[in-house]
Amino acid sequence: MSLLKKLFKPFLIVAPYVLRNSQTVAYPDERLVFAERFRGRHKLHFDRCIGCGTCARVCPDNSIVLVEAEGHEGKYPQIDYGTCSLCGYCVEFCPKAALEFTDLVEFSTRDASELVYSPERLAEVPSIKEVVPRLKRRIEPYLTKTEMKYRKVEDL
Ligand code: SF4
Ligand code: SF4
Repeated sequence: MSLLKKLFKPFLIVAPYVLRNSQTVAYPDERLVFAERFRGRHKLHFDRCIGCGTCARVCPDNSIVLVEAEGHEGKYPQIDYGTCSLCGYCVEFCPKAALEFTDLVEFSTRDASELVYSPERLAEVPSIKEVVPRLKRRIEPYLTKTEMKYRKVEDL
């Protein structure tokens, strides 16, 4: 093989991949549809919670304490996402299915105290458009014979 061919061969191999559609997700303009069992931040259902404290007892990271909530009698879970590992025990062991996971992962902050979610805050889950106003569409991956691509599921 001539020196010139040797030099250009890698570029010829790579070029078709570079010229194809993007293989990445253009977040925050688009966002993947997560799997049904995906674990994002929790949602608390006040009407189901009986304040039994099971969630706090099973939490391996001691991320849950029961606290009072405005407008509600009794005590309800407060979760510290600074330590929560999203293991799922609280959701799994809650006898009333009062805690569930959402697909919201956008809760990073520079202030650790903002990671402590009161029961009231856990009960109110904003829509994805409120959290990521730039978001335009949801997409999902699919496989062709040779590669993984993305297609639009819905406009937002
Ligand atoms: S969320 Fe479930 S486990 Fe936790 S206090 Fe309420 S009912 Fe009990
Ligand atoms: S998901 Fe796991 S670590 Fe997080 S609050 Fe629930 S039990 Fe604790």
